[in-house]
Amino acid sequence: HSRSHPVLDAYKLAHQYHDSLLEIQGDMLILNLSEKEYLQLKNTDHVVYIGVNNDHVFDSRIKRNSLTKLVNKSSDSNVELTIPEFECYNTVEGTYAEAKSQAIAHPELVQWKKIGESWKKTQKESGYDLNVLVIGADQKNSNKPKLFLQSGLHAREYAPVALNLAFAKYLITNQGVDPEVDWILDNTEIHLLLVANPDGRKKAEEGLWWRKNTNNNYCSDEPNRMGVDLNRNYTFNWFSIENGSSGDECMSTFRGHEKGSEPEIQAIEAYVRSIFPDSRGPNVNDAAPTSTPGLFIDIHSAGGMVMWPWSTTVDPAPNAAGLQRLGRRFAAINGYRAFQSSNLYPADGVSTGLGYGELGIASIIFEIGTQFFESCQTYEQEVLPNNLRALMYAAKAAISPYTITKGPEVVGIRLEGSGQKPVPSGTNINLKANVSDALFRQLADETLEASQSIKQVLLTISHVDTAEVTKEIQLSAADGEFDSNNELISYVLNTENWSEGLYSLYMKAQDQDGNWGTVKGASLVIDNNIENQNVLPTADFSFECADLECIVSGDKSTDDGELTYRWLINDRAPLFGKSVSFNYYETGEYKIVLQVEDEFGFVASTEKTLTLQGIIVPVAVLEYSCDGLICDFDSSKSSDTDGQITHLEWYIDGIYQADYREATFQYEFPVAGTYVIGLFVVDNHNAYDFKEISVEVKDKPVPVKAIVKPVKEASKSGGALMVLLTLLISCFYIRRRWY
Ligand SMILES: [Zn+2]
Repeated sequence: HSRSHPVLDAYKLAHQYHDSLLEIQGDMLILNLSEKEYLQLKNTDHVVYIGVNNDHVFDSRIKRNSLTKLVNKSSDSNVELTIPEFECYNTVEGTYAEAKSQAIAHPELVQWKKIGESWKKTQKESGYDLNVLVIGADQKNSNKPKLFLQSGLHAREYAPVALNLAFAKYLITNQGVDPEVDWILDNTEIHLLLVANPDGRKKAEEGLWWRKNTNNNYCSDEPNRMGVDLNRNYTFNWFSIENGSSGDECMSTFRGHEKGSEPEIQAIEAYVRSIFPDSRGPNVNDAAPTSTPGLFIDIHSAGGMVMWPWSTTVDPAPNAAGLQRLGRRFAAINGYRAFQSSNLYPADGVSTGLGYGELGIASIIFEIGTQFFESCQTYEQEVLPNNLRALMYAAKAAISPYTITKGPEVVGIRLEGSGQKPVPSGTNINLKANVSDALFRQLADETLEASQSIKQVLLTISHVDTAEVTKEIQLSAADGEFDSNNELISYVLNTENWSEGLYSLYMKAQDQDGNWGTVKGASLVIDNNIENQNVLPTADFSFECADLECIVSGDKSTDDGELTYRWLINDRAPLFGKSVSFNYYETGEYKIVLQVEDEFGFVASTEKTLTLQGIIVPVAVLEYSCDGLICDFDSSKSSDTDGQITHLEWYIDGIYQADYREATFQYEFPVAGTYVIGLFVVDNHNAYDFKEISVEVKDKPVPVKAIVKPVKEASKSGGALMVLLTLLISCFYIRRRWY
């Protein structure tokens, strides 16, 4: 909550307290704060609301409510391969079994390599190996640029491990099918540390909000708070700033008593140093050459963020321009917010210190999804599809991540007339795509990344069996001229006399500054025994909205085959699936677009605007009258259309007046002057409003009566903010409004 910019401020606050984030419920953040953190928050500019619903207090020791059966650990044959009630997520055993089976099935492409051991295993008490799944390593060419993806460093973050494994399986199963995958495997090596903290993960699979490893040398008196935060134990810049980590063994950000003390971190550091050469000098301002290949991504959850170094200072990293451009490119693909880690959330001893600080490799943190124990529905309809696309981009960008983002990207490539289906030669296929040199996502008040007009777009078609390049075509803009940073392509491929077989189509684009983007691929099968018949699809959907949640279903769409469904709801990241759900908070209009695509690449779409009855924000009204230095303040004209005001707070010059909690209060000012009086009201839906007025208090005992309208509205649209405080734990909700 802010005097100046409530939306941005709430956004910053959310990130600042990211480590305490329990989950995001609709438009609220639920945080788990220590008493100290809570008091710090009280002393800032942020309005804090105490009381109410103490029974909602979360405790890091409570189990996930819905969990009814625990992971069976009695014998190997009974080990659960997925997390009970979260069947879309593999357990450590399930993840390792999947990875191992891929390596056995594709020995020429995939290796499952041991790189070290978990803390428990080093103590000879069960525990796990730390393994990396390597895809596309080429014995003849060990100089291929490398992508390193790490997940599961924080135990309770379910979705990142699943995403990392899903990415591996996508690459492996689409080799020889998706030309883009073939390009990646020819040009890049993929190194996936699927479960960076398996001991801790095991605890989280039992339903605990476990974050650290399970080293019981620390905080041994409290078995559910022991361990080291592995993402504060990396050696680079370890314990280098105040408040970047904790020295308290029981805290969730305990850094360890020495840098790199934990076996997991020792293994990860040794491995990452072995695959990436050191490309950055020893001084803080030494930049890595912008041509440095290789990309390091640490995947966490949750919050929907993409972050780049530094995390220890708000100063820009020496490669800031390239890192920022890369972060904003990822954000445009997965729909998240992108910013430098430290701006909002200082941390030391973190993973990107290894990748970037120590080695100069472009390093990025993803915070995917909305909560640690992400529902499978949200994971499958949003988190997985949007982040798979981001990781595909990462694999291509790894050849030159600091600079390739300058080039234009081909997006939404589609072969209208063939799609996923084989077609006979002679079929006319309309190749459609969008080419953008401005594929970046930044906050509303940030300056735009530079972009130029598209200069050229190249299409290369080759016959996969013969490896012959059939055609190289300069594509033209659909509007006739390349004169913009965003161009549509619509090109008719005449397949007359094409021989049968599988064709790869590659597109890439260049901007006026000469920068090329990454390669985009599609495939086409010519088969003359196929009869090419297709009925065009139609799009229509039904919806059911209640209690701040809508379920939309594309079941009224028609086609003669299978459809894929893509949903655009206001400015949110797209959702995928025949039936999806989304939350709404405020009363208002919600534009819903459904795009369906049939197996032949034909698209139909429909749009409906729903007026949804959400929560109506209360209105704070502040009146006063003064008699000399004594003033009476009155909030009783404040109102809430769909409920009642349940809580209010008074502020004088930004300071919370704990003694005054009623609708009216009388105050004697010590000296004459101008004071800023603030009124904060919360309704029964936890929506809020905040008003401030300037009051001139005069010495003379001359009575002044006045009704003053608010001169400043700190919160136009309001939201919710609530803190629940018990002795040790407090949680607060804050209205979230992202850009
Ligand atoms: Zn994390």
